[in-house]
Amino acid sequence: MSSGGFAFTLLQVIFEMSESFDLIVVGAGPGGYVAAIRASQLGMKVAVVEREQKLGGTCLRVGCIPSKALLETSELYEQSQKHFAERGLIVQGVTLDIAKMMSHKDSVVSTLDGGIQGLLKKNKVERFFGHGKLKGGGVVEVSGNSPATITGKKILIATGSVSSSLPGIQPDGDRIGTSTEAIAWPEVPEHLVVIGAGVIGLELGTVWRRLGAKVTVLEYLPRILPGVDEQVANEAKKIFEKQGLTFKLGTKVTSVTAAGKTCTITMEGAEPITCDRVLVAVGRKPCTDNLGLAEAGVQTDKRGFIQVNAGYQTTAAGVYAVGDVIGGAMLAHKAEEEGIACVEKMATGHGHINYGTIPAVIYTSPEIASTGANEDALKAAGIKYKAGRFSFAANGRARAAGHTDGFVKVLADEATDRVLGVHIIGAHAGELIHEAAVAMEFGASAEDIARCCHAHPTLSEAVKEAAMAVDKRAIHS
Ligand code: NAD
Repeated sequence: MSSGGFAFTLLQVIFEMSESFDLIVVGAGPGGYVAAIRASQLGMKVAVVEREQKLGGTCLRVGCIPSKALLETSELYEQSQKHFAERGLIVQGVTLDIAKMMSHKDSVVSTLDGGIQGLLKKNKVERFFGHGKLKGGGVVEVSGNSPATITGKKILIATGSVSSSLPGIQPDGDRIGTSTEAIAWPEVPEHLVVIGAGVIGLELGTVWRRLGAKVTVLEYLPRILPGVDEQVANEAKKIFEKQGLTFKLGTKVTSVTAAGKTCTITMEGAEPITCDRVLVAVGRKPCTDNLGLAEAGVQTDKRGFIQVNAGYQTTAAGVYAVGDVIGGAMLAHKAEEEGIACVEKMATGHGHINYGTIPAVIYTSPEIASTGANEDALKAAGIKYKAGRFSFAANGRARAAGHTDGFVKVLADEATDRVLGVHIIGAHAGELIHEAAVAMEFGASAEDIARCCHAHPTLSEAVKEAAMAVDKRAIHS
């Protein structure tokens, strides 16, 4: 017998002996666990393999959710310190109990993890605890505390992403941290240096500033928040500087070292900076370590992202992939939508996702949110557009709440008036953006939004006024 024939027979034996499923999902983050539940709803027998005890992936364990718990608490702290008195609320002696703040954050994570465990059970999704590795031929080997070999008619990879670094910068899990460490520091840094003025750098940098740290943000590019509408990013920079953040743009960091409690950062063409904590937030890369991709015939691109077709099929028959690991916007909700679309296509031949209307939210204070194209993208594509802008300073509810920073901008096609993009910087922008996303999903024009009655007094009126401003008929500006 040839060795190829032997391998084939061995796989067949494993296939026949091991527990088998219609679908094995590797990775229980937002892409994976949501796909597993939907697949089960569609009648598949589903297994999920996850190597972390807690489900929910980076987003729930060390990302979106814990950072939002800290964001909300730090915001309350700053409000009580700096803004209550302006409204006649005299509170004295507000102090920070960081251990309590962290335990509140941890309890939020645990509760939500318990929720996902319950949802998987309710949907009869079997959970395997360990590292999943593709062996080819539908076989997944689970190693770790509860080793197992399972087989699936189909396999869905949803293993997400991990923090990336730069030459000369080696996070040490302590003083030189990534977002994972920066949501668990036991004391407020005196001076935090953030490398990267992207989403993570600004979300977590502003949390620690609100809690009392001096924060310096080093950014390679001449602007903050690459990818965000430039006018919005410029406004954000002004607001964050007013709040006390220091930016050093056009700064190339060359090395970071830590000795005891002191970190030293060297840069090209500038004096070194010392501080007591460093947050490295220079992007994330696909998480595919020891996944058996080559063995299973799954190809990646040169940056390591798994290549898929429109049905999320990889180059290996029966193997699919969704979420951060396939590239595109690294957003939990994008991964969820892909997970659902992927398994719906498997089961029914149809699945829907509109990449043109996926909202993106940056959870700073104020929030920054967008959906659709920004002005740079429209200019680059040669699309003629009209822009309408409305400031929260002219919105009654924003005035009453003391949230007057920021604006809404609606971009609409010059000829058809169809909404092409909406960009918001301001309080609750992350909630306000969904009106725009739904409108765009239904192919609305700016006039459609402008003619919808919006309740008064609400922040949402700023969206309506910005839509009216597209045709220069905003009332309150
Ligand atoms: P990012 O890509 O948003 O920002 C990284 C920043 O680091 C960029 O501005 C880049 O120019 C800068 N940079 C790179 N090299 C540098 C150097 N040598 N010196 C100084 N600056 C340098 O990456 P991130 O903030 O790490 O986030 C990772 C991913 O996670 C992103 O895709 C982000 O969208 C996603 N994420 C999203 C959310 C959210 O939607 N709210 C939250 C967290 C993370």
